[in-house]
Amino acid sequence: MNKYPVTKPYFTDEEIELMTESLNSGWVAQGSKVAEFERQVAHHEGVAEGVATTSCTTALHLALSVSGLGGGMDAIAPAFTFVATENAIIMTGATPVMCDIRRDFFNIDTECLIRIIESDYVQVDGKLINRINGNTLWGIVPVHEFGLCCDIYEVNRIAKEYGLKVVEDAACALGARIKEVHQGAFGNVSCISFHPRKSITTGEGGMILTDDPSLAKRMRELRTHGSTVSADARDKGKGFLLPEFNEAGYNYRMTDIQGAMGLAQIRKLDRIIDEKRKSANIYNDLIRKQLPEFISPTEPEGYFHTYQSYVCMLDIDRIGIDSIEDGGKFRNVLLQKLEDIGIATRQGTHAVHMLGYYRNRFGYVPEDYPNAYACDHLSVTLPLYVGLTQEDQEYIIKTIRKTIDEMKG
Ligand SMILES: *Cc1c(COP(=O)(O)O)cnc(C)c1O
Repeated sequence: MNKYPVTKPYFTDEEIELMTESLNSGWVAQGSKVAEFERQVAHHEGVAEGVATTSCTTALHLALSVSGLGGGMDAIAPAFTFVATENAIIMTGATPVMCDIRRDFFNIDTECLIRIIESDYVQVDGKLINRINGNTLWGIVPVHEFGLCCDIYEVNRIAKEYGLKVVEDAACALGARIKEVHQGAFGNVSCISFHPRKSITTGEGGMILTDDPSLAKRMRELRTHGSTVSADARDKGKGFLLPEFNEAGYNYRMTDIQGAMGLAQIRKLDRIIDEKRKSANIYNDLIRKQLPEFISPTEPEGYFHTYQSYVCMLDIDRIGIDSIEDGGKFRNVLLQKLEDIGIATRQGTHAVHMLGYYRNRFGYVPEDYPNAYACDHLSVTLPLYVGLTQEDQEYIIKTIRKTIDEMKG
């Protein structure tokens, strides 16, 4: 049992009370609690509509599908992200095309994005056609990694210039913003996650945010097997009539028990973010003073980082290691030693191009996305959650200091 987990959800009696209410009412499938949760999340982010789902992965699948992504199309997504970003693209029948990220803030490199569009595609009848596989370029799925928004305004500008769509993977980014504009309100559909690794949780769960009511309506129908209420049932009060099913939909509904949990959690969101930001600042300070081998995460001017995860990079030059390969080995020994003494850490996330399915299907090599590869090998997530004290953080950093010194011998 780890003394310090990487993260843990923050629950109080509120969750139990609201979930019990749901059980006592007898209504446990998607109902009023989910509807209220959708309203509150959408309101928090300054967006008109929220559509709750079973996970962010299903949210992405639904959002990408209704945005027209499907077979014979490409979607560009960052190479350093949780595998679900690319998997969701595959679920629609489309092909993911990866783009490198920036090492300094773990998000999509927009210069690399332009390079891919310019070099891999050719204009035919107003469409961008992939020179090799013949697919049409549909658009971009940028990720706001670890609770920090990507350079979304530049992504939007590029999308507009080339006539592309954008759906944001905001799985980690509930509450994140640039100036006063929250994720979800950047003009695109965005998808968030309520997995326990994220800022607030419903066990499993996700939500799509959009300002387009007709898109939200369509997604609500598809989430419920593609059902639409017929005009007869709606206008003439014929409640016995079954809905109509004009499309093959899914069952992506969140339960009301989860909705109840979400209602208790969303009340805590601002406090959770606030506490994590304070702890992140303490880490920044400790690292600056005691751990020059670590590069702490950055928060660009005007950005509001929610620190869903606190992810550092190992500075291998400072340790005297030449290759990323060897840096990765050093990092893994360090993480193992920390785990042995009860401090859980993880790499930030993975380089998707190096995961079995993607490597085998597309024949990628590490150098295809060098920054994603470096972040995969050199990133370190430190424990961060509500209840972690300054003394805990001092102990964690001191222990890492000692462990690195021992390793350097
Ligand atoms: C967690 C995560 C997902 C998947 O979310 P689920 O709710 O677990 O499906 C997708 N993308 C990113 C970037 C994530 O971090």
